[in-house]
Amino acid sequence: MGSWGSRGVCLVIEDDQDIRNLLTLILTGIGFEVHAVSSARDAVRAAKALPLVLVTVDLGLPDGDGLDVAHDIRKLSDAPLLIVTAHAEPHDELAGLASGAAAYLVKPFRPRELTELVDRICPAGTPLASMAAREVADEDRRH
Ligand code: CA
Repeated sequence: MGSWGSRGVCLVIEDDQDIRNLLTLILTGIGFEVHAVSSARDAVRAAKALPLVLVTVDLGLPDGDGLDVAHDIRKLSDAPLLIVTAHAEPHDELAGLASGAAAYLVKPFRPRELTELVDRICPAGTPLASMAAREVADEDRRH
């Protein structure tokens, strides 16, 4: 767990517990310190309090529209936004990107799809950190 948190704080906004846990697991595994919330209200509060480097937003939240949350967070943070949603309609994607999202991921997704998107919109910060992560991965493959 040497690289834990080496890529900074990621806010995960998702009301489905299974998907929230999956996002947390994957993003922690590639070096983020994950702060997960399940409501629009908690998301805005967290965005005010934390130095975010990445945000994932579910569009269907119990207390609000994820697009509104994306707008609110855009005013508070420059962190790239990744919309993760079950909505697969092309106009949803356009609305998501218009709201300031850097990328759009449709559920169900494979972990690989998530990590590739995240690496694209939020590249590993320092060469040192990504080298350490690769060494850990190499070691895992050998065992
Ligand atoms: Ca949802």
